[in-house]
Amino acid sequence: MTDQLAKLVQDRVGGEPVCLFAYDLDRLTEHVRIVVESLPPRCRMFYAMKANSAARLLRALAPLVAGFEVASGGELGKARAIGSEIPVIFGGPAKTPVEIEQALVHDVTRLHAESVLELHRISEAATRLGLTADVLLRVNLAGPFPNATLAMAGRPTQFGISEEDLPDAIATARALPGVRMVGFHLHSLSNNLSAPAHLELLQYYRRTVSGWEREFGMRCEVLNVGGGIGVNYADLDGQFDWPHFARELPAVVAGFPDHLREIDFECGRYLVAESGRYAVEVLDVKRNHGVDYVLVRGGTHHFRLPVSWQHSHPFTVLPVEQWSSSAPRPELRDARVTVVGELCTPKDVLARDVPVPRVRVGDVLAFSHAGAYGWEISHHDFLSHPHPEHVFYGDIS
Ligand SMILES: *Cc1c(COP(=O)(O)O)cnc(C)c1O
Repeated sequence: MTDQLAKLVQDRVGGEPVCLFAYDLDRLTEHVRIVVESLPPRCRMFYAMKANSAARLLRALAPLVAGFEVASGGELGKARAIGSEIPVIFGGPAKTPVEIEQALVHDVTRLHAESVLELHRISEAATRLGLTADVLLRVNLAGPFPNATLAMAGRPTQFGISEEDLPDAIATARALPGVRMVGFHLHSLSNNLSAPAHLELLQYYRRTVSGWEREFGMRCEVLNVGGGIGVNYADLDGQFDWPHFARELPAVVAGFPDHLREIDFECGRYLVAESGRYAVEVLDVKRNHGVDYVLVRGGTHHFRLPVSWQHSHPFTVLPVEQWSSSAPRPELRDARVTVVGELCTPKDVLARDVPVPRVRVGDVLAFSHAGAYGWEISHHDFLSHPHPEHVFYGDIS
């Protein structure tokens, strides 16, 4: 991918400053194929579209994953634009009655109900359409979670039904004519980097669900264990150990009862992050108050991920030899640089205090692992700069 991107950058020399997202669809499909093929029976991998819903990515993923997880009417529309037959599961914390009806009309496989009121809304829409909707109850687990790495789970959030309210939700689901409760949805964390901790989390889910089965005299047929498998932006060599996870997963899955017919994963970040890069040209360098700044064409209005996670995003320098201006070419050598964008706000920081051997105005910085929660979560029109290009490599049309 570096070669393709470096070549593209070379082709652009002399034109408008480089500012683009580049996606390697071959790399994407190879990664996702390995992940999906290593899952044991009963496990299915859905793609959580909110990480990146570019049509080209969705088309590349559709043949590989079990389907798409969507959380709005807009995402549902994008999924259906890729194919009317693709299985879609529908979540989201605040669904409108119209979205719920749309989801049923578009034949979603399941809805994830986030409150008792939502169960009523789903049932109303389903009965109006003469259907019964399959639902999972999304439960906001009380914890404590089994592993220190998972400390971020079990905090107060607006998501799901509190464990205290579960008896009421189950009674409601059973009484309503338009819903069939087929199981539970438990997405409790984000960006987990530890495979052993993720396996422990699944064990914890298994124990919790079997407790509910006894308590409520029910059988959980489908369990959605969410996404949350992470990407290590701080240490690119220290990624989630998928081979370890895949090796141990069958034993964990074997512990679930036979009546549990399906375990759904719905990952976003882990599937697509690595396939995307954000490449931006250096427009200026300067030193202020003892800090070396590298200013680029682009910024957090295209790629808000580093500010939203408060991290310094990894990048490499793609050297560009050409320099057509008559002005002397500024450069920094063996410096610690802070990379900032073109916005008039000090918060427009992509990377902070990063050692670089050399960077010159006119070079291009390539931010890696930019395929998830990059363009998708950013405030594109703040300051009205032009949008980046979106370039897709790979032989998928
Ligand atoms: C965001 C989200 C996901 C995907 O999370 P990743 O961390 O990208 O894997 C899955 N399920 C739900 C309910 C979500 O909100």
